[in-house]
Amino acid sequence: MTADEREQLAELIADEIRRALGRADGAPTRAVPWLALPVRPAPPERAGEAPAWSGAAQSLGDVAPIRRPSASSHRADPGSMTAAIRAAAAGQGPERARPLPAMAQQGGASDGRPTARRIAAGSRRRPAGVVEVPIAVSRRHLHVSPDHARALFGSEALEVHRRIQQPGQFAARQLVDVVGPSGRLERLRVVGPTRAETQLELSRRDAAQLGVDPSLAASGALQASGGGLTLVGPHGRVELARGVIVAARHLHLSPDDGERWGMRDGDRVDLRCGHGARATTWHDVLVRCGQGNATELHLDEDEANAAAVGAGAIARLVRLYEGDRVRRRLITERDLIALARRGEPIPHGALLTPGARDRARALGLDLA
Ligand SMILES: [Zn+2]
Repeated sequence: MTADEREQLAELIADEIRRALGRADGAPTRAVPWLALPVRPAPPERAGEAPAWSGAAQSLGDVAPIRRPSASSHRADPGSMTAAIRAAAAGQGPERARPLPAMAQQGGASDGRPTARRIAAGSRRRPAGVVEVPIAVSRRHLHVSPDHARALFGSEALEVHRRIQQPGQFAARQLVDVVGPSGRLERLRVVGPTRAETQLELSRRDAAQLGVDPSLAASGALQASGGGLTLVGPHGRVELARGVIVAARHLHLSPDDGERWGMRDGDRVDLRCGHGARATTWHDVLVRCGQGNATELHLDEDEANAAAVGAGAIARLVRLYEGDRVRRRLITERDLIALARRGEPIPHGALLTPGARDRARALGLDLA
């Protein structure tokens, strides 16, 4: 059979097929429907029941309850559907806020209540359980410089009246009176040992009584501190030109607790304490973490009174702001490649994702 003959034969067969299908009009063979189009089954007779072909033949009532059963719809409420799907995917109910067992154990009181959940984003290890700290109430007191101690008491040696919780510090036997424009406070306790600079810590109420308006400051930050008060000791007097502050509330944290709870010196936290209508959340509490600190929240008397808490009460961490989060940039692999292209070093203290870390090693970049 030649090629021409094969062509003719094929043409004849094609004609025969067209005729058989009643389409001998020369329409292109490609348009011939060889198979019947799929036909969608008719909708079910009874409303409220999914048709078999929908793939949802089983009732959803046992997975997600239908909130408003109606004859016109078989759909479950989207909210309960989502919850049910998540539950099914997790192999359990949609339980939230369950602390990790290991962390709860470390967190001390592990009653499983979800308080430390709203922790700012960051790659540091974060407390998943409850973090509770004891409260100490700081009454007005004086830290005194050696010079001022000599002037007030005749000697710079302070005698221990009783130890306080913060390591190395003590309430001294020495007392002073403080005289201000509108009043006088007697028998203020000196807290030892002596410091480089005299610092008088008052509550706002004390300050009002004395007739001064010192600024709120962290202990030791005396740049903006006030003066205008006279210290009166058994040996002599000292006019204070500066060093008077209302001490900002702060959380002392032992290095161990800092490590355990993923907190560092300079972080800020929100802590909640008190009960009922007096329950109070203290915002923006400065964390002082490191050697020489024992874990304790220091409130002044005004604050303690406002929340109706005393020494020995418990405050609970509700939020952690990483103090250095601006400086501690998160570097992804993509960021790292961009840095390397620009020839820039990895920012100091940056947090690297595992991908970025591997890439940095591969590029021979300094990870110190
Ligand atoms: Zn303190």
